[in-house]
Amino acid sequence: MKDLTPIFSPRSIAVVGASSRPLSVGWETMNSILRFGFTGTVYPVNPKAPEINGIQAYPSIAEISEPVDLAIMVVKRDLVLPAMKQCAEVGVKGVIVITAGFKELGGEGAALEEKITAVAREAGIVMVGPNCMGVFNTYPGVKLNATFARFDPKRGPVGFISQSGAMGAQILDFSSERHFGFSKFISIGNKSDIDENDALEVFTRDEEVGVIILYLESFADAARFREVCLEASRVKPVVVFKAGRSEAGAKAASSHTGALAGSDTAVDALLASCGALRVDTVGELLSVSQLFSAERLPEGDRIAMVTNAGGPGIIATDELENAGFVFPELEERTVAKLKEQLPPEASCANPADVLPGTGAKGYEIAVEALSDDKNIDMLLVLWTTPVMVKTKWVVDAIKPLCEKSRVPVIGMFSGASDVMLDAAPLGELGIPIFSHAPGVRAGLVAGRRYREWLERKAVPPIAFDVERHKVAAIIDKAGESWLEAEDAFVVLECYGLPVARSKVVAADADIAAEAGGLRYPLVMKVVSPDILHKSDAGGVIVGIQNSDELMQAKNNMLGALDKNAAGAKIEGFLLQEMAFGETELIVGVNREPGFGPLIMCGLGGVYVEVLKDIAFSLAPLDGDEPARMLGRLRSAPILRGVRGSKGVDIDAIADVISRVSQLVTEHPRIEQLDINPLMAGVGGCVAVDARIKVVK
Ligand code: ADP
Ligand code: MG
Repeated sequence: MKDLTPIFSPRSIAVVGASSRPLSVGWETMNSILRFGFTGTVYPVNPKAPEINGIQAYPSIAEISEPVDLAIMVVKRDLVLPAMKQCAEVGVKGVIVITAGFKELGGEGAALEEKITAVAREAGIVMVGPNCMGVFNTYPGVKLNATFARFDPKRGPVGFISQSGAMGAQILDFSSERHFGFSKFISIGNKSDIDENDALEVFTRDEEVGVIILYLESFADAARFREVCLEASRVKPVVVFKAGRSEAGAKAASSHTGALAGSDTAVDALLASCGALRVDTVGELLSVSQLFSAERLPEGDRIAMVTNAGGPGIIATDELENAGFVFPELEERTVAKLKEQLPPEASCANPADVLPGTGAKGYEIAVEALSDDKNIDMLLVLWTTPVMVKTKWVVDAIKPLCEKSRVPVIGMFSGASDVMLDAAPLGELGIPIFSHAPGVRAGLVAGRRYREWLERKAVPPIAFDVERHKVAAIIDKAGESWLEAEDAFVVLECYGLPVARSKVVAADADIAAEAGGLRYPLVMKVVSPDILHKSDAGGVIVGIQNSDELMQAKNNMLGALDKNAAGAKIEGFLLQEMAFGETELIVGVNREPGFGPLIMCGLGGVYVEVLKDIAFSLAPLDGDEPARMLGRLRSAPILRGVRGSKGVDIDAIADVISRVSQLVTEHPRIEQLDINPLMAGVGGCVAVDARIKVVK
């Protein structure tokens, strides 16, 4: 693990390029450090100014007589390398390069970045950036704000890692109007030395950090992220806003899985596999940060709501019910208490509507009664400001009740930003305050997902007894190509997958005689390197009952192929026993560079691309993951069986998925794999079509 102490908790700082010109980055950075009350010593470095902000300046780092822990560089690009060399000479321990103009510009900038990184590494200096917005640490013993953001951060449990400086600044800006704060922030910029994984590792062990949020545009090393995040998410929530969802460069549709698995799907699967909670918008990131900064989190999904207006209450109820939260009936004694004290027009159910006119008193009554109800896991207090009641009155009235509430309280204070700010006393109690129903939903959903993640038992991947060497030999022989049909089936059989009995016969062979060992009814399929989708070309005939029909089928197929795939090289025919399951599934694998094998399962057959009812996960899969993947499909209830239909053998399908996971984990040269369809029924499943691509 990298030691970031010199970055977050230095005793002395040199600001290289500090400036007395207001609004320059050199001035703002220096100013932030002083304004926020850094507890150590600051040395401005500027060869042209004798003093900056009333503090003696030094012409170079070399001239500072005391040891410097951290150098912050805000100088022009071409001065960074010489300054880094000086840092190395005088034994600076950490450097933050805020200056831009490096790798992000390519060419010369990239070369320069390599040079400064090499100097830093050689000297054992930890370097943040270049092209970043700095760091801060709100710990009272340090009080370092080495950024040029507009506002000083509030102190709180959030540890924030941002690839983009601007996104960092934006989140800080927004958070100034909300009731959560930060313990540490690091803008990693070009991540030439310190990347998100280093910071994540440090934040995992940092007791000041209660929740970690990341804004990322790329992964420095996805496999390492998975490892580091797995450790982090066991002890604190990790929230990731990964931008770049749109698909750059659709893949050649040479396999179904390849066509359906985009790189963003891989990101989803990666994050899900290590317990990271993904959000998609700034709003969600703020809401989720707000929720996880709470003093207490709900332990279930049952909500009681109090509101002073119908509309906002209905909107919030819709939003939350659609997300799976429930509004249970209240205990009788709760309802009795409400009825006794509230005016007759008020609604004494759940949601409880105290009406606008009852003001602070109405809320006092409702919060007192509801917060003690045994049927609920949380109390949501909705507030819309009517002209005759001040937000502050309500906040003051309910504050002591919230403090002793049996269940966690959550606030939704809607209106202009002053409404939210007036709720500050509740925020100080550690009550999460939101302004809109979607924010409440985003927060609560993340809270539930994290709870489920913590409850999930880690079941290691199942290790099947397989014929690994036989598969390795087939792959070696194939070099770089799609495996021949027969070989693909053999590979699956070696890993214990159920495959339909089949046999390839030459085009000119006596087909009826060759079919001797197989049991009718049969399926006949063309074998041709030129035909990708056999049934499209008329190259699949099912339900062949006897040898007469088989010979007839061969003639019919040759006729169809002549028409639909003229010139295709017909190597022979695959004769295959009919499978009995009637549900067609797909199990596939695609490798996303840097991510490893991405496993897909879903509804298969010819409609797979139309219905797109598929689920993904990164191999190696946990023992329980195949069942969870099947559970995520829209058609999961159908697979389990509905309305008299028996469904399919879920365990058998899960077993196939687990075995495929082991296969592609043990054979990294398998680049793509498609089992489509896997025919599934009540009594099991069987692969009837398989394509496997291997690479060198
Ligand atoms: P392709 O995908 O190249 O068109 P398949 O081998 O997947 O060829 O066959 C196409 C369709 O034919 C399958 O989706 C399935 O409906 C049916 N089929 C193929 N083989 C069998 C079999 N052994 N038993 C039952 N149906 C089959
Ligand atoms: Mg197929």
